[in-house]
Amino acid sequence: MTAPTPAPTLATTPPTLQSFVQDRWVTPAHGLAAIRSAIDGRVVAFASSDGVDFSAAVRHARTIGGPALRALTFHERADRLKALATFLSERKEQLYALSADTGATKRDNLFDIDGGIGTLFAYASRGRRELPAERFVIDGDTEPLSRGGTFVGLHVMTPLNGVAVHINAFNFPCWGMLEKLAPAILAGVPVITKPATATAYVAEAVVRLIVEAELLPKGALQLVCGAAGDLLDHLGGQDVVSFTGSADTSDRLRNHPVIGRNAVRFIAERDSLNAAVLGPDASPGAPEFDLFVKEVVREMSVKAGQKCTAIRRVVVPRPLEATVIDAIKAQLDKITVGDPRHDEVRMGPLASLSQRAAVREAVADLLTEAEIVAGDPLVAAPIGGDMATGAFMAPVLLACADPLAARRVHTVEPFGPVATVMPYDTLDEAVAIVAKGEGSLVASVFTHDDRVADALVFGLAPFHGRVLIVDRDCAKESTGHGSPLPGLVHGGPGRAGGGEEMGGLRGVFHYMQRTALQGSPARLAALTRRWLKGAPAPVAAVHPFKRDYEGLAVGDTVETDSRQITIADIEHFADFTGDAFYAHMDEAAAKANPFFPGRVAHGYLILSFAAGLFVDPAPGPLLANYGLDNLRFLKPVSPGDAIKVRLTVKEKRPARKPDYGEVRWDVEVFNQDGETVARYDLLTMSARRDAASSAAAA
Ligand code: NDP
Repeated sequence: MTAPTPAPTLATTPPTLQSFVQDRWVTPAHGLAAIRSAIDGRVVAFASSDGVDFSAAVRHARTIGGPALRALTFHERADRLKALATFLSERKEQLYALSADTGATKRDNLFDIDGGIGTLFAYASRGRRELPAERFVIDGDTEPLSRGGTFVGLHVMTPLNGVAVHINAFNFPCWGMLEKLAPAILAGVPVITKPATATAYVAEAVVRLIVEAELLPKGALQLVCGAAGDLLDHLGGQDVVSFTGSADTSDRLRNHPVIGRNAVRFIAERDSLNAAVLGPDASPGAPEFDLFVKEVVREMSVKAGQKCTAIRRVVVPRPLEATVIDAIKAQLDKITVGDPRHDEVRMGPLASLSQRAAVREAVADLLTEAEIVAGDPLVAAPIGGDMATGAFMAPVLLACADPLAARRVHTVEPFGPVATVMPYDTLDEAVAIVAKGEGSLVASVFTHDDRVADALVFGLAPFHGRVLIVDRDCAKESTGHGSPLPGLVHGGPGRAGGGEEMGGLRGVFHYMQRTALQGSPARLAALTRRWLKGAPAPVAAVHPFKRDYEGLAVGDTVETDSRQITIADIEHFADFTGDAFYAHMDEAAAKANPFFPGRVAHGYLILSFAAGLFVDPAPGPLLANYGLDNLRFLKPVSPGDAIKVRLTVKEKRPARKPDYGEVRWDVEVFNQDGETVARYDLLTMSARRDAASSAAAA
């Protein structure tokens, strides 16, 4: 057995946690609550929000943090998030050390500390790639609103002018805080974060590092350690509350009169009895059977089962029930419980003795409908710890014989290493059993059968924010049942709170207001810096391909000469490319096709000739064409038709590298009657002026 790493210095002088409000650290003088180590019960910190002026904190966020963040573009905010993620990543060892007292093992830290930092990185990258170098986002396409085209509509999104209040649960003091922080900061909204008191010392340490990094503007982040006081009383219609925790607290906060009266946006993630369903095809010997058992055991033991996404209900075909229980039992026997600082410990203690008492109480409640088939909630043999002072608990597996008739197994959440096996007879019954949870964050389905996957996935989807389908093809790279990911929605309906977090930019948009703009194309183009049909399109004196990125203005247009398309062109193209599809080569067959009047030009021929018409051949600042978007062929082109092209700068976007910028062009190809035959967005890269002049100087 390895000796435990020395306890952090917290052991000798428990610090009093400070709040960080109005860009100052506030030390409480009264009402200190002792926070105890999950491992041995010693006091590791004291916390209280005494001395915090909540009204001033909200004002500070609104008047200092908000304006400072909104002065930055999305790209500038993303860059700061990235630098912050790098800064934290270089210092994560100190957070690991602190985290041990919450009961976290090294494996748990990968979820909480590394997962939190990873979420910052992910949002930084999305902000750069998917958001403009602007302070607003255009949402969707232009809506034509008038016959003459002089009145159109468009949606934009702008950051709310309020504050994001983030209230977190105890189980992920780092990830829980950062997964909420990243989207809000990227949106341009300042944050007041309130960690759960039980593990606030980890959150406080993370905020200390963030403050030390000096990467976020003043007022962008404030921290409240201890109770939330009258914080909610000061909120208004520009503010957002995002809450993770129990259903009771969530109800209380959602029903706060200010939240209702001022229509404060309220996002909730709360108790969730997530399920994993084994398909009837996945019998012992099938890879999906082993994967299922492994995943259930992993979900019961990571963070000692204290995960909002953990599998609580293990739904299996009735004929396989006994075999599944035996297989899970065999794996659970290998889970070593104890002080997480010991290398051989796989599962640490629960967060506190009171949390363990709550889990034991929940198990007692479940025993009215289920029986224990593995483990004992009162017995464990912790390595390097004792049961009286440490919140250790061995995994407990229950089985419920009649899950369709039962109620508690679907409503009581034992927030610890506990799961209940439930048999089903038909796929419809499996769905009905899971649906009795009345909404969960995640369900997973283990099958390699199309029919089973179809019935289960579409049956379960309305009750879940995420459904994971595991089979032999994806298992090796699967991120698992319990891991919410920055690019995917985290949240669920009903009991799970009805909220959504992350999900890529969706999580950012919770902090922004969508507004429909109506006006003339010229006005909307000028406001949004995006050309739209009907807006001025001055024909440029100098071909736009001869101009560098800075020299291009949105709306600059090239109109080309026309080119007639002959039957020889079509045959040459067919011969050259090998595309001899009958619509281009066989007059009778083409005529029989309802879309064509006879032989027509290839769509790709039209694109190629369009390029031939608009390209300026000389070397110049236009560096490359990197794609087409939204391509539509709208009308067939017959031999004898003549096409010409109008090319307009639609949007400009600086690239991450300083040497070039990305330009989106609106391309419209017309026939001799002025009818549009093809339309698309052309994407190019153009050299930046400074890069071009420094290259010339060199
Ligand atoms: P709680 O609901 O007790 O606390 C959650 C957060 O709310 C904490 O920061 C808490 O602060 C705060 N809080 C409590 N009362 C108020 C109030 N009146 N005003 C403002 N804030 C308040 O949940 P726990 O953290 O104790 O977790 C317990 C349960 O939450 C678990 O058993 C589990 O069921 C559920 N949970 C759900 C998760 C999910 O994502 N679905 C994730 C984690 C937990 P303080 O700590 O200072 O009391």
